[in-house]
Order: sequence, then C-alpha cells, then structure tokens
Amino acid sequence: MKLLEERIQKDGVVKPGNVLKVDSFLNHQMDVELFDQMGAEFRRLFADRPINKILTIEASGIGIACMAARHFQVPVVFAKKSQSINLDGESYVTKVESFTHKRVYDVIVSKKYLGPEDHVLIVDDFLANGCAVDGLIDLIQSAGATVEGVGIAVEKGFQHGGQRIRSRGIRLESLAIVESMDPETGEIVFRHS
Ligand code: 5GP
Repeated sequence: MKLLEERIQKDGVVKPGNVLKVDSFLNHQMDVELFDQMGAEFRRLFADRPINKILTIEASGIGIACMAARHFQVPVVFAKKSQSINLDGESYVTKVESFTHKRVYDVIVSKKYLGPEDHVLIVDDFLANGCAVDGLIDLIQSAGATVEGVGIAVEKGFQHGGQRIRSRGIRLESLAIVESMDPETGEIVFRHS
C-alpha cells in the first residue's frame, strides 16, 4: 500500500534491535484517516472470505482492527494480555512472547466472544517473528472457529513470522513489507513482489 509505505519513509524511525518506530501515526499518536484507508484495503484484499469477526491483540492492534471492522461491518474482539490469569474455564488461553517487551504473557479471550460459528480475520500492527499471530491462531483453533486470514499493517520481511505463517497455508496480507532497514543510515527498503 503506497500511502503507508510513503508514511513509513517520511515518519518511521529505525531503531537498533530491528525495531521500527512509528509512534507519530500508528503506535502512539494515531492517524485515523490512514487507518480508515488501511481498513478499506483489508476489506478489498479479503473480499472473497466470509469474515464475521476480527480478532486482534491489545494494545496497538485495536485501533487498526476497529477501523477495518467498519469496512467489514463486523465486531472486533481483542485478546487481553495478563501476567497472571484466573483459570476459571471461561476463557481460551495461550502464551505469547512479546517482541518489543521480551517477555511472555498469558493472552486470553472469553469463550463468550469466540466460538465454532466464527470466521475470523486476524489484524495486527506489526509482524516480526509471528508470536502474536501464532497465539491468536491458537485461540481461534481452541474455540473451534475458522482462521480466514491475517491482515498486517507492517511486516518485517527479514524476520521469519511471515514465511512461517504462509507456509502453514494461511492467507497473510501485509500492507507494507520491509525488506531491510538500517539503524545507522535510517534507510528503509520495501519488498514489492
Ligand atoms: P511478533 O509477535 O510477530 O514477533 O511481533 C509482533 C508484535 O510485536 C506486534 O504486535 C507489535 O506490537 C510488536 N512489534 C514487533 N516488531 C515491531 C517493530 O519493529 N515496531 C513496533 N512498533 N512494534 C513491533
């Protein structure tokens, strides 16, 4: 998506440790008009899928997921991160290692909001090693629901999450794929297939 790539080039900051900071329009301050156009693009890309729910993970996926949901006209569920959970049987639970915080969270979704009748699009802001998406797929499968696809704003193509998810036969669409980025020069190169 050209608009997103241009915005990353203009405002993205490459940090050491393979981190791309996009706080000015995506992860802290949010450009809702851009999110809306990203939502429209996800709708176009997954138009052939019978999606009736969007699943994301708190916190930074929620804004994008909500704007996408307006285009699909479906509800959004966000998986909650917690350090200690009450295993009361009311929730599906999985573990996710956070790329940015380098720690493992329990991640939960209430059984009330995900079930066998659901056809789910996963939406998140970044894809790096794929741990967040793996966890969301795990929750969907625990619920007996169907993974219709994964929509990502920014995939870091030099990390291996994308390759792994695609090789599982899961439809993954990323609006921008970073092929390489250099913290010394700030250069960001996108992949165009
Ligand atoms: P993964 O689980 O695929 O390794 O990492 C994805 C999650 O880590 C995303 O939900 C996102 O919040 C965060 N993340 C990973 N890489 C980056 C990055 O380069 N920049 C930002 N802002 N967040 C990232």
